[in-house]
Amino acid sequence: MKAAVVHGANDIRLEEAPLPVPEDGDIVVRVRASGICATDVKTLLGQGLPKNLPTILGHEVAGEVSALGKGVQGIAAGDRVTVYPIAVCGECDYCLHGRHNLCRREFGLAHGIDGGFAEYVRIPRQIIDAEGVIKIPAELPFELAALAEPLSCGLAALRVNRVQPGDTVVVVGAGPMGMIHLLLSKWRGARVIIIEKTPGRREFAAGLGADTVIDPQALDPREEVMKLTAGEGAEAVITSLSDPRVIEASLPLVKKGGVFNIFGGPPAGSLISIDARRVHYQELTITGSFASTPQDFREAVRLISSQEIDAGRLITDRFTLDSILDAIERARSLKMIKGIVVVGG
Ligand SMILES: [Zn+2]
Ligand SMILES: [Zn+2]
Repeated sequence: MKAAVVHGANDIRLEEAPLPVPEDGDIVVRVRASGICATDVKTLLGQGLPKNLPTILGHEVAGEVSALGKGVQGIAAGDRVTVYPIAVCGECDYCLHGRHNLCRREFGLAHGIDGGFAEYVRIPRQIIDAEGVIKIPAELPFELAALAEPLSCGLAALRVNRVQPGDTVVVVGAGPMGMIHLLLSKWRGARVIIIEKTPGRREFAAGLGADTVIDPQALDPREEVMKLTAGEGAEAVITSLSDPRVIEASLPLVKKGGVFNIFGGPPAGSLISIDARRVHYQELTITGSFASTPQDFREAVRLISSQEIDAGRLITDRFTLDSILDAIERARSLKMIKGIVVVGG
């Protein structure tokens, strides 16, 4: 099969790779759409390359079931599916408490095993056991189904952020995930303030329904957020970028009793200082959100299938396996919001 294989930083090659074979309890999916995530781009630039190279990236996969391992039940060849990408054990303390994203024995697509930038991908039995293979309606395009994974990560953050109708949510950084936080916060009935320095992204966020869009190079985000919230700050602040200086500078934007969510993954050694007195007397919640649970994923599929969330508005670029290198360049240039690799036409 054709696959985009990563050999190292800045070294991705379109190659012929062996067709995956399902082991007992596994399935193989013929990939039809694979979302490009910020993680894929970061990885390709050499930040946190997987231990086992060469490997295939891509963890936002939708396609058709093409082969079944021994003992698989409830799934048939030809089923149209989208796939939760984390193989969780289902038995550790985290899994038992519904926090599968923190599983002690997790691995997953593009994270220990080959992912979806290929014509076929093997889905291990752990994902099937966690009910992470979700059948999608016949009329739902694969490219929309592939957005269930990033949407599920946004839903996980929405849950942690305790967003209520009428709240003000500040999203710092309007990349693909920042846009998802925007869509979901609006869906929940919140007012959304976007802080983003790239002009094209500010325009895009405004088009998606952001109530206010702030250029942090032209205006002081703190002053602006205070003006918009009668000097109180926002109920939830979510940082959807990785620069610790920006994360630290965003702390004053959160209201007394509010939630500050470090969503984007900062690099190692990202120390920030926090006013402990303020955290105590104002009961601030300082938290993170990482990935999502199978429940978040199923809810994301439901929101996309029912068109409650119009996730397709995020797709700005489509590629093929052959043009995947262009995708990386385009993502780096910050011109792309969400890119999808369309496989097998
Ligand atoms: Zn992703
Ligand atoms: Zn576990």
